[in-house]
Amino acid sequence: MKETLNQLIELQEIDCRLYEINELKGDLPEKVLDQENELNVYKNENETKDARVQEIEHTSRKHNAEVEDFNVKLTKYKDQLYLVTSNKEYDALNTEIDSMKKAISESETIILTEEEEKNTLNEAIKSNSNKIETVTLTLEEDKSELKTALSKTQAEEKKLIKNRTGLVKGIDSRYLSTYERLMGARDGAGMVSMTKSACGSCYTKLPPQMIIEVKENSKIISCPSCSIFLFWDGIEE
Ligand SMILES: [Zn+2]
Repeated sequence: MKETLNQLIELQEIDCRLYEINELKGDLPEKVLDQENELNVYKNENETKDARVQEIEHTSRKHNAEVEDFNVKLTKYKDQLYLVTSNKEYDALNTEIDSMKKAISESETIILTEEEEKNTLNEAIKSNSNKIETVTLTLEEDKSELKTALSKTQAEEKKLIKNRTGLVKGIDSRYLSTYERLMGARDGAGMVSMTKSACGSCYTKLPPQMIIEVKENSKIISCPSCSIFLFWDGIEE
């Protein structure tokens, strides 16, 4: 029991320092991740929009060629009107002319609608590109800031993690899993020192008998209020 207690005391020291190191990084890792996600959203949007612009340009070329072709035919039919010899022929030609005019008008409507869509897309692409530029700049700044913050503590953090991995291997798994659960429920570690005869986590005043036992540092005691493991760091109030 005493050995487990000492191991847990050592573990909470490591975890508290790891927590401090993480605090030093602040919200930078999260910010960097958010910005990277944001960039991806804009880039993906632009890819989709770009593809649609290409598609419109392709169909627009097709429709323009069609209109040109229809106009050639229309002129031809109109010329033929002067050469007809019967009413029947005249009516037949006029029907052709009307259908050509309709086809031209339809194609031109599609060209215009798609042209409008293309303009809207290009505006959105431009706006996204501006956002990409701005976010890229802040991302670069935050990344370099994070790198500086990390470089100061990186070696220490690595060492702490290595020590922690070694330490937990030897800890009684029942206590370790409770410790990890307690740690996950709050910031820092799964064990705290008693301070001013109270729990160092929830500040509940401890019963006199418990205070004596915690001060002995010979067994694992849980806070009656928040269940966190208690020890005593030896600092008298
Ligand atoms: Zn407590």
